[in-house]
Amino acid sequence: MGLLLLLQACPTNPASIQKKTSEKNSDSLSKLPKTQSSAPRIKRRWSDVHTHLSPYTIETFVKVMDDNAIARAVNMSGGATSERRSQTLQATQGVEDRIFHFMNVDWRGVDETDFGEKAAAQLREAVMEQGFSGLKISKALGLGVKLKDGSLLKIDDRRLDPLWKEAGKLGVIVAIHTSDPKAFFEEITKDNERYAELSIAPSWSFYGDAFPSREALLNARNRVIERHPQTTFMALHFANNPEDLDAVAGWLRTYPNLIVDVAARLAEIGRHDPAAVKKVFEEFQDRILFATDIQVGVQPYQGNLYLRVTLGSVSKTPPKIEDIIPFYQKHAAFFETDKADLVHPIPIQGEWNIHGIGLGEKIQEKVYLQNGEKYIFAPSLARRIAVHVAGKANTTP
Ligand SMILES: [Zn+2]
Repeated sequence: MGLLLLLQACPTNPASIQKKTSEKNSDSLSKLPKTQSSAPRIKRRWSDVHTHLSPYTIETFVKVMDDNAIARAVNMSGGATSERRSQTLQATQGVEDRIFHFMNVDWRGVDETDFGEKAAAQLREAVMEQGFSGLKISKALGLGVKLKDGSLLKIDDRRLDPLWKEAGKLGVIVAIHTSDPKAFFEEITKDNERYAELSIAPSWSFYGDAFPSREALLNARNRVIERHPQTTFMALHFANNPEDLDAVAGWLRTYPNLIVDVAARLAEIGRHDPAAVKKVFEEFQDRILFATDIQVGVQPYQGNLYLRVTLGSVSKTPPKIEDIIPFYQKHAAFFETDKADLVHPIPIQGEWNIHGIGLGEKIQEKVYLQNGEKYIFAPSLARRIAVHVAGKANTTP
């Protein structure tokens, strides 16, 4: 191994890290975590249901949560193997009621006929034995996972049906990322409106014949949602179609088992007529969840591990830990004010400003907090208690 866990400023990525969080705190939702730093006190509380954390950065992230009034968070990078999931769990001991994990899929062996059953069994183990809270599917499904014959595994391939079905049986949601922004399917030229981002991360481009069209990918995902009405799907990044508000609203009307998060898509959502956006939030106030896609991970460099913060996308200069508070504040400004010309949280995702939507307090509370409780956190906590009680009953003579 030989990696020293040295979480400090990296010469190539100068992010600093707090060595210790104040206290490992396991507040119930009714108690606002204490803010120990110079961060301004925030009145609201919210849960961020889409983050990416490393086992090495949990203490740092708890501090981030305290500083930004984040009650609970979902770590979408819980691990694709049992070993990695155990490591994740170990790192969150003591904060299990604040940081919840979704498991990832190990795509090796996808050609085997019982792949779906095996993946379903892994999900069952992660949920019932390890206390995981859901399943996260990355955009690799549809754009990267290949079969032996070289073709891409289709999102609605029947071999995955046992996995979707098992999630429904267990009562955990499937968080699914499908395709990507419209601009990533268009040629990388100076005219591409996401040119700045694509020129830093050209591998994010899915332009050309090697990839299915964006529409085909979204349609395949929707067929899966339709085929599994007993399973709740959280279509990430505003159903990966924030460019088309009417389409997303239409899908939400069509599929009662569909919910969406807003992670890393305020630039697109806030680009539409604010009255139209507000209407969608009003109609689907029980099915839209606050999330950012913040990543607080590590980067190995010359035998050491350094903190790596990513705020929704790539950037020319890596963000620092101090940039996180303004990042969350920009999200709040969008939801809570109706100001025009707001700077959106991830400037590289398009050089335009956005219009706030000034959600009423009741809807804010649902999007920020209650919907996450209803769909993810409360069922997960209830399941842990049930499993614990069942375990005790089994060992009682
Ligand atoms: Zn993500």
